Amino acid sequence: MFMLEFLVSTLAPHICVVCRKEGAPICYDCIVAHCSYDTAYCYCCSNSNATHGICANCRTKNPLDRVFSGVTYGNVALKLVRGLKFERNKAMASCLASWILANFSLPTGVVVTHVPTANSRVRLRGYDQAKLIAQCLAKQAGLPYKELLSRRSKTRQVGSNRADRFLQLNNAFGILQPRYVAHRQILIVDDVVTTGATLEQAAITLKLAGAHKVTAATFAHQPK
Ligand SMILES: [Zn+2]
Ligand SMILES: [Zn+2]
Repeated sequence: MFMLEFLVSTLAPHICVVCRKEGAPICYDCIVAHCSYDTAYCYCCSNSNATHGICANCRTKNPLDRVFSGVTYGNVALKLVRGLKFERNKAMASCLASWILANFSLPTGVVVTHVPTANSRVRLRGYDQAKLIAQCLAKQAGLPYKELLSRRSKTRQVGSNRADRFLQLNNAFGILQPRYVAHRQILIVDDVVTTGATLEQAAITLKLAGAHKVTAATFAHQPK
């Protein structure tokens, strides 16, 4: 948690979204109190899995090698992600990135990238929140960040079921810098994992371009 403490102390002036204390978008006490996770699990079937791996049952149909996803998308996590998405609170990206780093042993030697948000939403907001988190995480971890994926389709994610989303996302991504993908290990960063369909499509695209392993890390996960 040292990194969080350091980070929180350098982010003034901000107001904690939980207790309204001045200092950071979320204070150290609140992130410790509200953003811990109980158990490591397979994000596909939610069964516990000590290494955050995709379990044997789910692996055959999943292109991801491992998914680190953090807190359940409850009240506080929702506030944090909303703060980043809708209130232009870019400092929050740094908090979420350091939370991920403090809680997971991410693989070493990876190239960090993000899942690009649908373009219309980026234009509306003026920035891509997943890119901000990925850049902060790479910087804090001393890993290279590269923009590797582009959005091809204009389809927006809607709250449909997993199969619908997968179809919508089919062929959704293109590769921007193939030399950083082939034979590399890639870490995809996003703010929240819901069905996982977006991450899986991104992983398929990266693996088709020759990526050796694809791991994902997200701050929060939404229970299915
Ligand atoms: Zn607080
Ligand atoms: Zn599973």
